[in-house]
Amino acid sequence: MTTGTVPEYFGCMVFDDRIMRSVLTSDVYSSLRKTIEVGAKLELGLADSVAKAMRDWAIENGATHFTHWFQPLTGITAEKHDSFIEPSPDGGVIMEFSGKELIQGEPDASSFPTGGIRATFEARGYTTWDPTSYAFIKDQTLCIPTAFCSYGGEALDKKTPLLRSMEALNRQALRILKLFGNDQVKHVHTSVGPEQEYFLISKEMYDKRPDLQYTGRTLFGAKPPKGQEMDDHYFGVIKPKVKEFMADLDKELWKLGILAKTEHNEVSPAQHELAPIYATTNLACDQNQLMMEIMQKVAARHGLVCLLHEKPFAGVNGSGKHNNWSISTDTGFNLLSPGDTPAENAQFLLFLCAVIKAVDDYQDLLRLSVATAGNDHRLGANEAPPAIISIFLGDELTAILEAIESDTPYHDKEKKLIKLGVDVLPRFARDTTDRNRTSPFAFTGNKFEFRSLGSSNSIACANMMLNSAVAESLRIYADRLEKADDFEKALHDMIKKTIHDHKRIIFNGNGYDAAWVKEATEVRKLLNYPTTPDCMPHLLDEKNVKMLTSHKVFNEAELHSRCEIMLDNYCKQVWIEVNTELMMARRMILPAIINYADKLSGTVVKKRSVNEALECKYEKSIVETLSSLADQIYQKTEELEQTAEKINGTEEIITESQLIRDEILPKMQDLRNLADKAEICVSREYWPLPSYGELLFSVK
Ligand code: ADP
Ligand code: MG
Repeated sequence: MTTGTVPEYFGCMVFDDRIMRSVLTSDVYSSLRKTIEVGAKLELGLADSVAKAMRDWAIENGATHFTHWFQPLTGITAEKHDSFIEPSPDGGVIMEFSGKELIQGEPDASSFPTGGIRATFEARGYTTWDPTSYAFIKDQTLCIPTAFCSYGGEALDKKTPLLRSMEALNRQALRILKLFGNDQVKHVHTSVGPEQEYFLISKEMYDKRPDLQYTGRTLFGAKPPKGQEMDDHYFGVIKPKVKEFMADLDKELWKLGILAKTEHNEVSPAQHELAPIYATTNLACDQNQLMMEIMQKVAARHGLVCLLHEKPFAGVNGSGKHNNWSISTDTGFNLLSPGDTPAENAQFLLFLCAVIKAVDDYQDLLRLSVATAGNDHRLGANEAPPAIISIFLGDELTAILEAIESDTPYHDKEKKLIKLGVDVLPRFARDTTDRNRTSPFAFTGNKFEFRSLGSSNSIACANMMLNSAVAESLRIYADRLEKADDFEKALHDMIKKTIHDHKRIIFNGNGYDAAWVKEATEVRKLLNYPTTPDCMPHLLDEKNVKMLTSHKVFNEAELHSRCEIMLDNYCKQVWIEVNTELMMARRMILPAIINYADKLSGTVVKKRSVNEALECKYEKSIVETLSSLADQIYQKTEELEQTAEKINGTEEIITESQLIRDEILPKMQDLRNLADKAEICVSREYWPLPSYGELLFSVK
């Protein structure tokens, strides 16, 4: 199956449209397509036929088990395997799989986070087949993408609200298209191409770092002599071992029908990126989860470890995920692509404005949709993109919008007024090369690139917020335009008004600049939430609850539970880091310091036994430094531990997360700084941890 040319084995592990068409009867196939395309209910009898065909195909391809594959709020995927076997009367087994088993599952879900939605006596959660995402085979198991809900129907996962947000956007976008006289379009969907960043290091080094093993990031490590200052890694020649990994990874992803396309080195040493060709958001989200899993698996085969944490190493760039997002029709038209006719242009501008308005009105939702303890090290720190959400449009498009807003001629060759619905937009360069890399949300010709996502984040959260916020802009537009007597005038006025009201969110300058933070917050009054505890509680702000519930993306209980779970995840993550840091300081770092100081002190005694007059300046100075550092480290570990004991388990999770931010994180940093100072005084031979240099340059 995996031999042959790429087109021959591409998607061989996916029950995709090609397979469905060939193994299902035409009746079953067309019913299933209807279910996939418009969400029509699939009769149980038909589900039985689909299940049988799936089972036969899966068994033929080596599967023995099936699982409902879902995405609980832990951030990773979950699966519970059942084998196909059923006992047969003759004492043997037959391989069975029913429509019921395909459609619904009931994992023992009592340990998944629910944020209080599900009383413990009602621990059942249900998984329900999502036919819009193809089933696939992984590790001899047929995986069926599913949504995960409580007994009462509340979403306990990331897929359900994502699907609901796609539906909300579809509903509102269709209203707008109709106003433009477009009746052929039956469905509007968003597409995403997520560019995935990651680090690759050697397994041997990884095994010696408990911090990487327990927390995904280094909690200690002095700056190496060389980092990313030369910019010699970015798009540099890919090392042979990395190349082998990438080739193997491509192959595994292609078998799963994932369109892995671009692979290159990133800015930091040991950092790389993989971008697939974009797909419908729901599928892109499932595939990205799968991609992250396969990356780690394939790395292990090569004696490597793939780090997906947002900030595995201090002092060099962290890893993000660029979420390239666009809106398209089922007729294949990208609504964010400037058109060639006046009508298409007006429509384009309206959708563009809907996004501008959405991003400005719901900056907080976009910010919190990417908030995790790990991503705070990027967004809240001095690294791109900043925590302040703004939009990059490029100078030309910005100038066009300014001309429309102020009814002044656009300064291209003809210097004429732009009249929407009558004029073709002036051509502006769709520059995709010289882009502003510091912007968190950039228009890149025919799509927006949301760059704030963390590398380990599921893309579901960012996209459900983005889709919902844009659906809300479109709803407001449609409400107004449907009532207008003069459509063209109403449209023109509305676009002008949006530009006027929301131009503060457009920023084409350098997002790293300290001056930007000042301007953004003081002059433009944009939000700046550097950390998860700062932004997450705003999920429950009245305007956000109102918008998200009105589009039926969440109900109130779900929002409360999500806020709770996200903050709880944040706290848990930091507590694990605290425990790891204390353990390493006490059991590895302090002993190393003592041993080396002891060795030097012994040297002094020995040398003086040869010649009493020897000064032993070096030894004495290092022993003094180390002794002082050891005392300080000891003191910091005690302080950190006592503060942690005081804060851990604070009744309100919001308060706990804020205390962590204010009292724990600074102490962790202090402890680290002391240990890093000690690292550069202690002989390599005595230091128990691979250095940053060794970790970052470990893969040849
Ligand atoms: P970059 O220069 O940022 O690497 P690329 O042109 O390589 O940009 O594209 C990055 C990602 O954007 C890819 O995953 C690509 O498939 C995706 N992409 C391209 N066009 C669209 C679109 N219309 N909608 C969504 N994603 C898109
Ligand atoms: Mg990119």
